[in-house]
Amino acid sequence: MKCYVCEHEGVDRDATGVCIVCGMGLCTKHMVRSDVETWEGGYPFPAKKLKHPIPRILCPECSKAWNGEK
Ligand SMILES: [Zn+2]
Ligand SMILES: [Zn+2]
Repeated sequence: MKCYVCEHEGVDRDATGVCIVCGMGLCTKHMVRSDVETWEGGYPFPAKKLKHPIPRILCPECSKAWNGEK
């Protein structure tokens, strides 16, 4: 799979991750990774307190949406 953002910019780079929200392939430069303690809405895990933070990978666009930016 190729990085969606890179391909959009005409760059040929393999994806090393996938956005968990929209599913687009992302290279390490474009993936936004951070750990969250709980998930709201119960996706992809049941909405309950977890013992460990869950690593999540988002694309730049979904990261903005997640953080409420426009
Ligand atoms: Zn990229
Ligand atoms: Zn996304």
